[in-house]
Amino acid sequence: MSAPAARGPIVTIDGPAAVGKTTVGRLLAESLGYLCLDSGLFYRAVALATVRAGGDPDSPDDAVAAAHALRLRFAPDPSGRFAARAFDGDCDITQALFSPEVDGTVSLVSRIPEVRAAMLDPQREALREGGIVALGRDIGTVVCPEADVKVYLDASPDVRARRRWKERRDAGGEIDIADIRNNLQARDRIDSQRSIAPLQAAPDALMISTDDVTAAQVVKAIRASMAERGLIREA
Ligand code: C5P
Repeated sequence: MSAPAARGPIVTIDGPAAVGKTTVGRLLAESLGYLCLDSGLFYRAVALATVRAGGDPDSPDDAVAAAHALRLRFAPDPSGRFAARAFDGDCDITQALFSPEVDGTVSLVSRIPEVRAAMLDPQREALREGGIVALGRDIGTVVCPEADVKVYLDASPDVRARRRWKERRDAGGEIDIADIRNNLQARDRIDSQRSIAPLQAAPDALMISTDDVTAAQVVKAIRASMAERGLIREA
């Protein structure tokens, strides 16, 4: 019997909202020729489906029904190898996943244990072959504790609010920075205090503050850690 094929490396990047996970994750994935998977899309899709079905995002019954009805799939963004476009069946829901309505409800559905349970297998399936950078809150702790390199990013609330505000403004959205700061604070609180898979760093995570460094510098630090472990030849 032949041995199972070895998987490619897995890098996980966890951390609070708007800390730079997506920017760093995409740059890193691009530099390595890996896929980048943002696990927040799974929970955002459940929040969207719950609200669209007229359900209550705080109700386990409504959120779980929406999670099970989802026919979620991802497709690479035409601009690169990012698993960045999300579909429910044939419907491209990518843009709707980043609406203020979803920002305001996603932490409610994602603290429901049955929703997290329903999202676990699809996430693990997406990571199975490796060669991937996976972003989220609990990827290094719960979804894939066996990852080769685990990173935890952090930054001050003001820096994160400003970054998210700029990102939304550049995308054509008009949104008050105070509203963004409030949303981030509320999400941080719920994400860190929930009883299941709370936001926290894995004990062996590489801890990086993104307050005063560029995304390119963070990528360099992660690549150095990969090189140290013999996963790539040089940083
Ligand atoms: O990363 P993003 O801000 O898109 O995540 C949206 C929300 O999804 C988070 O605030 C959190 O409630 C939830 N989430 C989670 N576990 C993950 C990824 C995201 O609970 N691994």
